[in-house]
Amino acid sequence: MRIALIGNQNSGKTTLFNALTGSNQKIGNWPGVTIEQKVGVIAEGTHELIDLPGIYSLSPYTLEEALSRAFLIQEKPDLIINIIDATAIERSLYLTTQLMELDIDCIIALNMSDMLERKGISIHIEALSKLLNTTVVQISALKKSGLKSLIDVIQTGAYIKHQNKPIFRQNIEKIITHLEQQIQQPHARFIAIKLLEQDPIIETQGLNITKWIKPLEQSYQHDIETIIAMGRYDFIENVKKQSFVRLHHGDPVTERLDKVFLNKFLALPIFALIMFVIYYLSVGVIGSMTVDFIDGNISTFSDFMFDWLTSIGASIWSASLVSDGMIAGVGAVLNFVPQLILLFILISLLESTGYMTRIAFFLDRLFKKFGLSGKSLIPFILGSGCSIPGIMATRTIEGQDERRMSIMLTPFIPCSAKLPIIALFAGFFFKEQSGFISFSLYMLSIFIILLSAIIMKTFFFKGTPSAFISELPNYKLPDLRYTVRDVYDKVFEFIEKAGTIILMSSIIIWFLTSFSFKLEYGIDVNESILSYIGRGFSYLFYPMLGDLSWATSVSAIQGLVAKEQVVSSMAIIGGLSADITEGSVILNAPIYAFFTPASAYAFMVFNLFSAPCFGAIGAMKKELGSTKKMFQAILFQTGLAYVLSVFIYQSFTLLGGL
Ligand code: GDP
Ligand code: MG
Repeated sequence: MRIALIGNQNSGKTTLFNALTGSNQKIGNWPGVTIEQKVGVIAEGTHELIDLPGIYSLSPYTLEEALSRAFLIQEKPDLIINIIDATAIERSLYLTTQLMELDIDCIIALNMSDMLERKGISIHIEALSKLLNTTVVQISALKKSGLKSLIDVIQTGAYIKHQNKPIFRQNIEKIITHLEQQIQQPHARFIAIKLLEQDPIIETQGLNITKWIKPLEQSYQHDIETIIAMGRYDFIENVKKQSFVRLHHGDPVTERLDKVFLNKFLALPIFALIMFVIYYLSVGVIGSMTVDFIDGNISTFSDFMFDWLTSIGASIWSASLVSDGMIAGVGAVLNFVPQLILLFILISLLESTGYMTRIAFFLDRLFKKFGLSGKSLIPFILGSGCSIPGIMATRTIEGQDERRMSIMLTPFIPCSAKLPIIALFAGFFFKEQSGFISFSLYMLSIFIILLSAIIMKTFFFKGTPSAFISELPNYKLPDLRYTVRDVYDKVFEFIEKAGTIILMSSIIIWFLTSFSFKLEYGIDVNESILSYIGRGFSYLFYPMLGDLSWATSVSAIQGLVAKEQVVSSMAIIGGLSADITEGSVILNAPIYAFFTPASAYAFMVFNLFSAPCFGAIGAMKKELGSTKKMFQAILFQTGLAYVLSVFIYQSFTLLGGL
């Protein structure tokens, strides 16, 4: 093959040429002029490489430009290597847009990539390649890095073959297409555009070009050359916006903070530590302080209401409905409001510092290996409040496969409604370690997300992730007003849910637990309607609980209504099953006495990963765009949750006899 090496002056052509050809070069002059021409062979003599003069455009205004252009069109090289200075991308791409118009395959060698980090730029190679419809290889001619990949791509022919790519506005493209059809010779697009630009060399071939140019010049109020040049720069600007990330806008504070927070080795441990502190403070510290206190007050209040209602003549069952059903059910959920407030405050503060976006960017590369990208991190972060906005946020992800995966994986992040389950079990069974245990679940969810992504990527989705984050905010001090509003909204939503869905469900659960099928009241809970419904399910849950517990099984299934409902239902059944006034009502009830740390952890895991609530399922259906895919997602989630929790219970039990 004959390969032409072309690029701006000082883009590193000579350096690359020497690096690729070594001593295999012939130096002469271009015919008729005193410009040096170098020809060398690369890849053990299979290909000839011709070093063209450094130029900025294919207009024939300088000798170098005319020469390069004549060579490309008349000598018909098989391939162009367009070398680009990655630190001066606008200028470089101006030439590239013109090379793209020729009917010649082209590979872009993105040179000077060793300088990028110091300049605070990161380039998204796949995106750049996609936007230009050209293979891009990142190299450093000076440091001799990436050269092997470049040779490999050439040798294997595994580069994107030339195809005309429209880059101008539609009205201009229409004219170009029209002209192309009349030209009917190689490089038709190049010739058409040059004709429009009123290039002095290209012959008009009898075409009436002015009839197209006049109206354009009139509507844009510029001469045609400027219009075309502006079109190129608009395109370049867009390419840049979508494939370049400026890591810092010269903000020295951000630069210094990034050195620590986005350090290659420290970034992940720091991220883990931050999340640990957040969970430790909210679930561990605040949780242990508030839950007993509030729970105690709620049971006192519940008892008081029961006594008061019966004293004013209410029937036992109606007093029980209020105290054991409504107050116990809603109260069990409200217990966790202080922890949620702190959790929301901390995460919201963290978000408003810009850290979350920056770490998302950092994780981009890691996530890529799993078929996801840093962009999926945004739904995941939002999902820690509630899966529904998280699932909706996947709309910003361009790659369809990545988007689908993110939709299915977002519910794996512990949302605020799952926190009560985690906090309840972690607090009761792991006491001082509750913060650590809840953090471990958070980490487990990240692990499971990545694992599932691999599974999905291997079996279902094969597309490449395309998304990336282009705007990186500087670090800034947290915005308190934003945080207050954000936390208020989320907490209010949580409480609202407690007052509506949870209250309704509490009444139903109270009814099903208090009455038998013959509608007898005052029965043993083990004779209740719910217990019979639950018994069927209890066999399913046996492998992860080690007990045929209808009460637990039936509560877990209510997670479909709302995840808080699991705790709420357990509280109601627990309260009705035994008269406990001291301490944590829920898990002290004999009906839950079978729980061990192993089954407690397994149960948390099941609730964390199994199908989300109906609200989130609805969001999944909408965003996946099909009921079938929604069911597949639910099946995947629940199946995985089941296998995982059974595995955890069985192996913990085997190992520790817990
Ligand atoms: P040409 O005008 O396109 O032939 O460019 P040269 O090969 O002469 O290179 C211009 C300058 O850029 C020289 O000082 C090279 O050492 C330098 N240069 C070339 N490639 C790289 C690179 O990958 N990284 C860095 N940092 N400098 C480079
Ligand atoms: Mg040179």
